[in-house]
Amino acid sequence: MSDIYATIVGGGIIGMAVAYELSSFLNPGDFCLLEKEKNFPSDNQTSRNSGVIHAGIYYDKKHSPLKARLCVHGNELLYRFCETNNIQAKQTGKLIVATNSVEDNTLDSLLVRAQENNIPDVRKINSSEINRLEPNVSAHSALYVPTSGIIDPLSLVEKLKDLSKLDEYFFKGTEVLALRESKNEIIITASSPGNEEYEFSTKYLINAAGLYSDKIARMLNPDFPLTTFPVRGEALKFSQTRPELEVSRNVYPTPTTIRKPDGSLHLTLGVHLTPTFSSKLEDNSLDVNNNYNFQLGSEITVGPLNRKSGAELRLDDFASDLASHSLFLEKVKSYFPALQLEDLRYHQVGIQAVLSNYSDFHIFPDEKYPQMINLAGICSPGLTSSLAIAKMVKNLISPKKTNGPKSQFK
Ligand SMILES: Cc1cc2nc3c(=O)[nH]c(=O)nc-3n(C[C@H](O)[C@H](O)[C@H](O)COP(=O)(O)OP(=O)(O)OC[C@H]3O[C@@H](n4cnc5c(N)ncnc54)[C@H](O)[C@@H]3O)c2cc1C
Repeated sequence: MSDIYATIVGGGIIGMAVAYELSSFLNPGDFCLLEKEKNFPSDNQTSRNSGVIHAGIYYDKKHSPLKARLCVHGNELLYRFCETNNIQAKQTGKLIVATNSVEDNTLDSLLVRAQENNIPDVRKINSSEINRLEPNVSAHSALYVPTSGIIDPLSLVEKLKDLSKLDEYFFKGTEVLALRESKNEIIITASSPGNEEYEFSTKYLINAAGLYSDKIARMLNPDFPLTTFPVRGEALKFSQTRPELEVSRNVYPTPTTIRKPDGSLHLTLGVHLTPTFSSKLEDNSLDVNNNYNFQLGSEITVGPLNRKSGAELRLDDFASDLASHSLFLEKVKSYFPALQLEDLRYHQVGIQAVLSNYSDFHIFPDEKYPQMINLAGICSPGLTSSLAIAKMVKNLISPKKTNGPKSQFK
């Protein structure tokens, strides 16, 4: 018999959301979470993202069926969870703006996509309505997406950790080094914070290792067919020091499609403006219903600008490498004309776990060893989808399931 029912690898938002779901049917001590970094929250995708709650408009059901479904479901779950648990989140709404007729046509196809994906209340608006909603945004037309918003990912991941009651079964500074199968169990070799190696067995292993998920998958099954294609994005920020810099919604350009060096296509959302929360305590006061009404702060983030990607990228390379901020300005000027070079300051660098040759999330039991559930390519909109992804994992490993997990490739 295994030492433990389920072991989660990775303490980012996905691993923690899975831990939270597992706590609904497993007792403390029947599941554990291993995280290689000693600090929590760790330096990972979860701590370095744009904090946008996506509506689910960018993902088509044919090429990205999981992203299309889990983003819309996750969006709904996330707002509800944040309201119940007083996590900083706000449904700001979003504008996807077109500055010429070609982009305007792209918005029409995105509107069709929004309807196919059942995203509520998306509509196309003209320049005078744009002006009414966001007077400082200049555009020919836009899609207004009311279910988009912003969230503080770190408060979310902390809350999920607390609610999951992992306690001493959250092993920080513990890196998975090797995996093997024996008698239908998975044997894990891990290193402790003191660098000692030890082994234990688990019935199920949930691989939520972010940028390293493909590596973990291959530790057990060297034939795992997918490879992470890391994409590094840098973001800047500005303070709304002048009235013409004020903005209160997420503002995105029309998305474009880029071809990766391996020939596959990747949708890039473009350099966008994202409001942030106020850090002033008095702005986060309780309302009459005892709920927090979180106020927006004065900082707006601008980014990410994706410049480096692929195998040559070091996965801990978080240092700013942009000699000039003018590249950002070029991207944003067409729809946000008042922004000046001197307004911009460095914000952060983040690296996304995109997959080569595969445009969807990969959430499937391993082909050869179905006790291992691989979560690979959990890039954007992974934060938005996290609670929906966790429910999917729970269904895959719950003792109540009837036919056992199915592999994607069978
Ligand atoms: C720049 C950027 C902007 C983004 N913007 C958005 C957005 O606005 N909205 C949105 O919905 N999504 C966004 N995303 C995507 C979102 O952040 C990710 O999908 C999500 O954070 C993935 O979480 P994760 O838990 O899978 O991975 P991570 O947060 O990367 O966590 C994986 C963890 O696994 C650990 N690990 C790795 N290997 C091992 C090992 N051998 N042993 C033990 N532990 C290990 C790592 O240390 C890490 O802590 C963005 C991502 C980036 C980088």
